[in-house]
Amino acid sequence: ESQLNSNYSFDNFLEGESNRLARSAGMAVANKPGGTAFNPLLIYGGVGLGKTHLAHAIGVEIKDKHPEKTVLYISAEVFTQQYVDSVRKQTRNDFIYFYQLIDVLIVDDIQFLSGKSGTQDVFFHIFNYLHQNGKQVILTSDKAPVDMQDIEQRLLSRFKWGLSAEIMHPDFETRVNIVKNILYRDGVEMSNDVIEYVAKHVKTNVRELEGAIISLIAQSSFNKKEITVDLAKNVIEKFVKNIRKDISIDYIQKIVSDYFELDIETLCSKSRKRNIVQARQLAMFFAKKYTKSSLANIGSQIGDRDHATVLHACKTVDNLLETDKEFKAHFEDINKKLSM
Ligand code: ADP
Ligand code: MG
Repeated sequence: ESQLNSNYSFDNFLEGESNRLARSAGMAVANKPGGTAFNPLLIYGGVGLGKTHLAHAIGVEIKDKHPEKTVLYISAEVFTQQYVDSVRKQTRNDFIYFYQLIDVLIVDDIQFLSGKSGTQDVFFHIFNYLHQNGKQVILTSDKAPVDMQDIEQRLLSRFKWGLSAEIMHPDFETRVNIVKNILYRDGVEMSNDVIEYVAKHVKTNVRELEGAIISLIAQSSFNKKEITVDLAKNVIEKFVKNIRKDISIDYIQKIVSDYFELDIETLCSKSRKRNIVQARQLAMFFAKKYTKSSLANIGSQIGDRDHATVLHACKTVDNLLETDKEFKAHFEDINKKLSM
């Protein structure tokens, strides 16, 4: 069994600026599995941006074009469970042998392997075997290889052998197309004003966009109301507020460090450089503002600091907002990005 989900195809994976590279690399791999320079093909990007969809689409397309090939889709989490089971049952060699017979191996969410050295080790051997034998490996991750933590260097260097393609946040035009596609699929009509309203206000990711449309459709049919911009405004405002509650410390660190063009490691480092200190303090401030984490927890996640440091950071940010215009502008830019 390939474990592929045939609902995820290239046909319903809409192309846009944000996914063009990953999509076309996926297409190239599907045409010639194992026969391109894109081996492994690593697709990375934030949650809900289409990594799993694209990974399945590639597998489905390969099954279609090359029916003789064995394709296997597996999440890194299930892979890990299988491995752990095999060790317990003393069937580790069978486990490895099974994976060595596959022509196209798709492993989703490999960030899950972080810190799991036994699983990384076995995956390393399977990967090498497949690669040496001209088999195709397709991986997805929520981070670029450079940002992956607790993954062995030898494995990271393998990940970089082929192509790493990022899926980014969809732009407005792509969001409009995605909404239209969902409506078409579900046989629902909405005016362009409503479609554009939704696409304009739900920017986080495609999964949220789907969720917003579905709750809008549900609201209108429960209340037997027409889908107007007013109704959309109502539903989407609530929806977006709910998304906001889910902002995580990881996400805040990513937004803040991207904004200042730092990597997360630098943000969390002991550096006393003024811009880095300010970025770090902002991250702490926003973590306090947007998450329910304790000061101690925020401190431990952002550079292994204690709760007093976080408290101090929040006070400093408050002060700077009153005294430093440039700082305030940065603050507002980041705040806007976080609440997008
Ligand atoms: P990820 O694995 O990156 O978290 P998913 O692949 O699960 O994201 O995608 C989330 C949802 O958004 C899925 O329902 C998927 O079909 C949809 N989706 C994502 N990108 C696109 C796209 N480009 N076109 C159509 N649907 C998309
Ligand atoms: Mg996924």
